Amino acid sequence: MYDIIIVGAGPAGLTAAIYARRASKKVLVLEAKAYGGQIINTPDIENYPVVAHISGFDFATNLYNQAKDLGAEIVMEKVTQLQDLGEEKKIVTTKGEYRAKAVILATGSENRKLGVEGEDALVGRGVSYCATCDGNFFRKKTVAVVGGGNTALEDALYLADLAEKVYLIHRRDAFRGEEGTVERLQARANIEFVLNSNVTRLIAEKRLKAIEVTNKDGSVRELAVNGLFVAVGRIPENQSFAQLIDLDPSGYAIASENCRTKVPGIFVAGDNRVKEVRQLVTAASDGAVAATEAVKYLAAL
Ligand code: NAP
Repeated sequence: MYDIIIVGAGPAGLTAAIYARRASKKVLVLEAKAYGGQIINTPDIENYPVVAHISGFDFATNLYNQAKDLGAEIVMEKVTQLQDLGEEKKIVTTKGEYRAKAVILATGSENRKLGVEGEDALVGRGVSYCATCDGNFFRKKTVAVVGGGNTALEDALYLADLAEKVYLIHRRDAFRGEEGTVERLQARANIEFVLNSNVTRLIAEKRLKAIEVTNKDGSVRELAVNGLFVAVGRIPENQSFAQLIDLDPSGYAIASENCRTKVPGIFVAGDNRVKEVRQLVTAASDGAVAATEAVKYLAAL
């Protein structure tokens, strides 16, 4: 029996583990994939207070080591079910069962697909969701990035250093991501903006060789590209808990700013929670808040 089980070893979950361990609680962190969450793919973090520059990998590794050194158990198992048994919560994973008095759900989110025919079959053969993982394969080649948020903008900047040419395709004429990054993109000679446009077809032989892009005005362009980086947002990973906690229409967990869900003893932290700002610093903040609230909850049992 653990005091607190944390589902997810991203910035929110690992920060929660640090806070819970510093409060001397028995803590287990369960992670389905790899520690670090989506930040692990960010080449350079420059908006985390005090740390002017750090790679996502180094950030995540430091955080993981900090939680482990403080005594958190971290196990790589996918959670498939959560049951509320009142003062006890049961967690089922692909390998077994665990029990805790409190649970913090810090599961983050997964890549949203573009939804164009052939997309899945071309993953690893030209289609990618991670510029820092796969960008190197496209040195001196032509690539397209689709999306208008910070991920797409930062991916385009990153790829412009490697590829010969980068198309940045966005369905509107204004970007959702930061203006400063847009200005940096505009200054790059090898980046071409393709606005008001959607990718409507993937053209491939064995690998992707071109994409069809349709403008809002109905005009169609075929762009010869070796790679397509899809950065059209993320989907919260709350499906396994949908029976228990409230989700909004987009699937984000509904919780107050103190990270409490409607179920006593179940908390939610990070990108899978309904909130305005989803950043590294707010994920870490959620982790601290959720763990502190969980400790308060345990004290009142
Ligand atoms: P996002 O901000 O949700 O942006 C998704 C983008 O994809 C939007 O521009 C959206 O268009 C577009 N889109 C969605 N569905 C589409 C579709 N089916 N076809 C074409 N385009 C589609 O996602 P994100 O960029 O992954 O960022 C997620 C969060 O992480 C954000 O809060 C972001 O600020 C944060 N983030 C921060 C940093 C950083 O601080 N350094 C880095 C990366 C991400 P519309 O604009 O028209 O809706």
